[in-house]
Parts: sequence; structure tokens; C-alpha cells
Amino acid sequence: MSSKTALITGISGQDGIYLARHLMALGYRVHGLKRDGSVDRASQLAALVDEAGSLPGELAIHSGDLADTDSIESVIEAVQPDEMYNLGAQSQMECTLEQSEYTAETNGLGALRLLDGLRKLGLEHKTRYFQACSAELFGKADVSPQTEETGFHPRSVYSVAKLFAYWLGRNYRETMGMYVCNGILYNHESPLRGEAFVTRKITRAVAAIAAGQQDRLELGNLDTPRDWGYAGDFVRGMHLMLQQDQSDDYILATGRLHTVRQFVEKAFGCTGCRIDWKGSGLEEVGYDAATGKQVVRVNPDFYRPSEPHPLCGDASKAKARLGWEHQTTLDELISTMVKADVAALARAGAARRIA
Ligand code: NAP
Repeated sequence: MSSKTALITGISGQDGIYLARHLMALGYRVHGLKRDGSVDRASQLAALVDEAGSLPGELAIHSGDLADTDSIESVIEAVQPDEMYNLGAQSQMECTLEQSEYTAETNGLGALRLLDGLRKLGLEHKTRYFQACSAELFGKADVSPQTEETGFHPRSVYSVAKLFAYWLGRNYRETMGMYVCNGILYNHESPLRGEAFVTRKITRAVAAIAAGQQDRLELGNLDTPRDWGYAGDFVRGMHLMLQQDQSDDYILATGRLHTVRQFVEKAFGCTGCRIDWKGSGLEEVGYDAATGKQVVRVNPDFYRPSEPHPLCGDASKAKARLGWEHQTTLDELISTMVKADVAALARAGAARRIA
């Protein structure tokens, strides 16, 4: 069992919850930074707090905002972490454009506040730091799959701010000798994935359609390929990065591409529904093969043309140096997500009946 102390920003998010569980299972004292007024994920954080009692480690939650230097520094000073995981971010593309300045404050300058906080408090050689970066750094990539050597070409406020955090981390490692790792993370999902992301949109719709509560699912380009992994596998990789003799940057990815169409077919398959496709492009429609009912439709509002070089990660370096490999299959991941959304709907229905 470990006696280490970790500080996680973004503890109420998908990865924050999975990482906190993983570290507590290893015996860590976990401290989480949570924004005041954050209500969307209050229930998943409450579930983590309940679960913490049954794990060997400990959990404490602190108020703080990555956009606020004073709150960050006082939490770092109180916690004196051995390891810090910066997972906090404005991560939904739509919000990051609408709130571009706050996105840059959080995703970019937030990393500066954390690293400078460590420096100012004399922890620069004690605390090991993990920065969650994104495959979106590659954006309009000119090769596929991408490696740690592929050039960056970010195409959103979100990813430009993440690129700032990436270079800042490298700079503090190379010029100040701090232990800083950038994890270049490809898409990873779970039942805790935010509801605005396409995978969760699909699995929630599949559950609602099966329960007769929704007619159809509307999506953009069905042939968009994605490298989708499981959050539980990714947080193991984040932890491994901070256990090495030297810090470095690593891609975490499955290295396998599947299209939105394949995800849809597999997700509907989990409720026993086979999809028949008719038409093409913007006119394409998916029918329940058994009933002939239309259940999927392409909506031009969500449609984006595919990039010539899809974002697909080569995680060979993580495998060779960290011994990390993605383990969960896409079928297992989708089945877990659909089951969780079916169960959540059943719970909500039961709660309504009781009320
Ligand atoms: P997520 O579910 O969206 O969680 C983001 C977390 O950041 C939430 O806890 C959110 O808190 C917190 N946060 C947002 N703004 C903040 C601020 N100003 N101060 C403090 N906390 C703030 O994201 P995730 O899927 O767990 O991803 C974890 C990290 O990996 C993120 O940095 C993300 O950009 C990166 N990443 C994820 C993926 C992926 O596929 N999941 C891929 C590449 C990179 P609230 O509860 O208050 O909203």
C-alpha cells in the first residue's frame, strides 16, 4: 500500500473519479480540487465520497478554481502533494468557443498557476506533475497514426490552450528539472462521460429508445472515425507516468479506429436492436430491422466532413517504457455504457413512480 498524497484537479469529471478510485485502491491519500457552484456532476462526486470509505486510501475535497491563483496556491500549500494530476479543463468544444477566454484561463493558464504554485511553495523537486493534454493538439494532422514526434496543428481554443500547457510542462521540465509528464490522451469514454459527447449521446439515446422514451437519435457524419478507449485504462497510464525514474511525454491511445456508425450499431445491438441503413450522406437513415421504425437520422446541424488523416494514436512508447497497454475492448466499453444508461433510466422511472 502506498503512503503517498495526490492532488487531482477536475476530480468531479470522468477521469477525476476513475483516477481517485484507482489511487485510493493503491492506498493514496487523495485530495481533489472542485469548483464552487459546480452542480452538474455533484451526484458522481457524492458517489465517490461514499465509495471512498470502502477503499484503503483517503479522500478530501477542496474548493478551488484553476482560474484563481489564490485558491490554487492555498490548496497546494495545505496538501503538499507527492503527485499532482491536472485533469481540470473546459472540455466541451461548443462551450470552449462560447467561453474562449475562460477556456484559455482554465486549460492554459491553469497549468501555469499549478506549476508556479509548486515553485513558489518550494515543492518543485518534491511534487511530480501530470498534465492531461489531448490528441486535439495534432488537430489537422498530416500523418496517421500520430506519435510523440508528430507535429502539432491545433484547431480550437481548447487545443491551443492545451498546447500552451504542454509546452509549459516541457519547459519547466527541461529548464528547471521539474518532474513533469504530458499525457497526450485520445478519446476515452465510460458511463461517466459527459452527456454532450457523441458516445454518451448514443448510449443514452439507445437506452431511452429501448424504454420507449425517445423516438430517434440524430447525429452528424456517421463515417467519422475515432480512436476510442476506456477511461479506467487511461488513468492507469497517468499514474504509471509519475512512477518512472525520469519524466517524459506519452501518447495514450488504443491505436484502433472505429466509426460513429460502428459505435451506433454496437450500442443498439446491446438492446437487441439490429440497424438497417438506407440512403446516403445527409439523407441516410437507420431503421430497427425488426420493426422497420426509424431510429437514427443524420442531422446537417451536427455534420462535419472527416479529416483526411484521422486522429489515431500510436502508444508504442507507453507500452515500451511504462508497460501500459489499453485492455478493454470497444464491445466491452459500449456494453458497460449502455447497461449503465439503461439502469439509470430504470432508477429515474422508479423514483418518479415513488414520488
Ligand atoms: P471532464 O469530465 O469534462 O472533467 C473536467 C473537470 O474539470 C470537471 O471536474 C470540471 O469541474 C473541471 N473544471 C472545469 N473548469 C474548471 C476550473 N476552472 N477550475 C477547476 N476545475 C475545473 O473531462 P474528462 O473527460 O474527465 O477529462 C479529463 C482531462 O483529460 C481534461 O483535461 C480533458 O481535457 C483531458 N482529455 C480528455 C479526453 C477524453 O476523451 N475524456 C481526451 C483528451 C483529453 P465541474 O464539475 O465544475 O465542471
